[in-house]
Amino acid sequence: MPTRATKRGAQRTPLTRDCDVLICGASFAGLTLARELEDTGAHVLVLDRYEIGERSTSACAAPTDWLVRLGLGQTIRQTFGELVMHTASSTVRWPLPFTFSTFDYRSLCGLLHEGAPSSKFETATVAGIDTGPVHVVHTDRGELRAPLVVDALGWRRVLSNAPAIQPPHARLSRGLEVHADGSGDDLEVWIDRRYVRAGYSWSFPAAGELRIGCGSFEPRDHVKEATVELAARLDVPADRYQGNWIPHKLRAATEDGVFFVGDSAGHCLPLTAEGIRPAFYFALALGRELRHTLAGRATRQQALERYSAFSAQHAWTYACMLAAQHLVGRTTASVALRAAVRAAGLPMIGRWAFQHYLAIAPPQFAQCRRISQVPATAAGTPAMRVASSAW
Ligand SMILES: Cc1cc2nc3c(=O)[nH]c(=O)nc-3n(C[C@H](O)[C@H](O)[C@H](O)COP(=O)(O)OP(=O)(O)OC[C@H]3O[C@@H](n4cnc5c(N)ncnc54)[C@H](O)[C@@H]3O)c2cc1C
Repeated sequence: MPTRATKRGAQRTPLTRDCDVLICGASFAGLTLARELEDTGAHVLVLDRYEIGERSTSACAAPTDWLVRLGLGQTIRQTFGELVMHTASSTVRWPLPFTFSTFDYRSLCGLLHEGAPSSKFETATVAGIDTGPVHVVHTDRGELRAPLVVDALGWRRVLSNAPAIQPPHARLSRGLEVHADGSGDDLEVWIDRRYVRAGYSWSFPAAGELRIGCGSFEPRDHVKEATVELAARLDVPADRYQGNWIPHKLRAATEDGVFFVGDSAGHCLPLTAEGIRPAFYFALALGRELRHTLAGRATRQQALERYSAFSAQHAWTYACMLAAQHLVGRTTASVALRAAVRAAGLPMIGRWAFQHYLAIAPPQFAQCRRISQVPATAAGTPAMRVASSAW
């Protein structure tokens, strides 16, 4: 069991502070954003209820090229050039035109954080926000003020003042997995009603660990029994559970002057529930907008509009992926599904499909020229900053 590092009781001292950018959530989206804001000279504060890397939120598989281009290659545990697809009656090997790698969550988060040495990190549970020209964020340790506030808190979208979405009524999938000691050579996926009625199951090896889980597109369907059953079938103990809700619909990327990124904006891709790559991608996009604002080249309003438009540009792709998810959810038992799985295993079709899929958030985006490299203008005094004597 991982040791809980989060401060408790008396160690949880009061925290009230002003800063330029307050990033709520220190996982894939939040830490990538903090790193993208390095060298701006801005006071960036990152909050999470847990210490960095303490709680893994996923099976941690992502396209290798993204990890390498972000300088996170050393966290890779195992790399795969094929996906082994199982249906109830067939197994097909899909050759991939690019590789996926499983990685170590704690090391990856640590490395992202190391890349943002001038940002500050505090453990605190975020409860809500009063929005305004300078937002006030409420936490269990006190109030924090910042003109630029980012919700990278995951599916709950804590900083939204809209009515809360709660499963099973909300548009969310359900995911649960075990991290068992064990090994394997293949990245495996099952679309098989014996485990999940509408959804899929997986086994992702990560050098000495098997991450075995089930995801249901239908939030009312429980997945624990199925996860235990699959682990038993793969002959590993159902140890170290972790689960979460997974948004499967794109949501507004800004609201009341607040930025949302990653799962809080529904950036996790429907159908595949691949959420790490989009969290990196949209966090970089947001970081590039915020750099403009911090350098005095754009107002907060402009950043809100531009980032919102960037996210919304992907609406059609997300709608198509969601339609495919509905289709797969309804056809898990059918001959059509077996035929589709076989067809995607054909090199030409598979290559075409996967290259289009990767292009939704292409790895090249990680290495776009940084806006920071453009010198600030005379108006470069950051317009959005607040006096921060407490920093
Ligand atoms: C079982 C499972 C397996 C998955 N496997 C994969 C996979 O292999 N590959 C992939 O690409 N995607 C996978 N996903 C999806 C992926 O995990 C998410 O899309 C991704 O984690 C989103 O990143 P994020 O930074 O937006 O949010 P999160 O990773 O959810 O991070 C949110 C952060 O906010 C913190 N937080 C939440 N609420 C509060 C609060 N009130 N106060 C303070 N802090 C708070 C949390 O502690 C956390 O650190 C999986 C999901 C599940 C459920």
